Amino acid sequence: MTRLVSTVKGIGRLEDDGEVVALLHLDAADLGAALQAGLDIASISTAEVRERVPAAQAQLIAPIPRPSKIWAVGFAYADHRYEVGYTGAAQEPVIFLKAPSSVIGTGGRIRFPKAAPDEVDYEGELAVVIGRRATDVSATDAYSFVAGFTICNDVSARDVQKGRVPGRAADVTAAKSFDTFTPMGPALATLDEFDDPDDLHLRTWVDGELRQDARTSQLIHPVPALVSYLSRQTTLEPGDVIATGTPSGVGHKRGQFLRSGVEVRIEIENIGALVNTCA
Ligand code: MG
Repeated sequence: MTRLVSTVKGIGRLEDDGEVVALLHLDAADLGAALQAGLDIASISTAEVRERVPAAQAQLIAPIPRPSKIWAVGFAYADHRYEVGYTGAAQEPVIFLKAPSSVIGTGGRIRFPKAAPDEVDYEGELAVVIGRRATDVSATDAYSFVAGFTICNDVSARDVQKGRVPGRAADVTAAKSFDTFTPMGPALATLDEFDDPDDLHLRTWVDGELRQDARTSQLIHPVPALVSYLSRQTTLEPGDVIATGTPSGVGHKRGQFLRSGVEVRIEIENIGALVNTCA
C-alpha cells in the first residue's frame, strides 16, 4: 500500500494513515522528475527513508508538477453527457489537451483569469499517471504502463469554452489551460492501493456542499481503454497525466460558478482529498 507525494523538500511516502511523510533518498526533485528520468514506480516506492516529517509540515506540491502533457476526456460519464445536453451515441472518447503550466498542488489557490473571471467551474476527476513509455498498447496491457492514480480538478472557464467572451473564439483548450486551472494531488497512489482500480468512489464538495458523487465504474471508457486509445495517437511518456473526465454535478448547469473564497474539495477513496480555495 503506497501513496507517494512530491514536497518542496523532495519525494515522500505517506505513513501512519497519511499523518507522516517519509522523505526518500532519490535523486529527483519531484515524482514527475523521477518518472521522467526513467525511475520505475516500484523502485521509487521502496526507496530508503532519509527523514520523517509530520504531514502538516511537509508542504506538498502537485505529484507531477510539470507533466509533458495532460490529456483530458470530455463527456466521460453518461450522466454528465446527459447533464450538458450531449445526445450523440457514446462511441469514441472526446479528447483535448490542457497546458502543463496550469498545474498547482493541493492547498494552492485557483485564480480567476483577467480575460474570463465570471464563469470559472470545477470538475472532479480521477487522473492517471503514466509510468512507462506507451506506444500502441492494448487495453489488456495498459495498466502495466500506469504508475498510479491521483486526483485532478479540471477547472474550466465556461464562457471561453462556449465562446461567450467578446473577442475570443470558443476554445476548450484555452478554457481549461489558464494558470492554476489544474489542481492535482494530494498523492499518487500506486495501483496496489486498490481492490478494484476500475471502481473508485469520487466525490466533490463546494464549501461543504456535496456536488458530485459517482463511481469510476460509471466511466464510459474505462482507464485501460483510455490509455490504449491515447497511446495510439501519441506516445505516452513517463509522468504524463490523463484526466479521465467528470461525472454530473458541475456548477455551470445550475448557474453556480466559483467565487473568491470558495473551497473545492475532491476525494477519491484510497488517494486522499484535493483541496483548493479560489483567490
Ligand atoms: Mg474534465
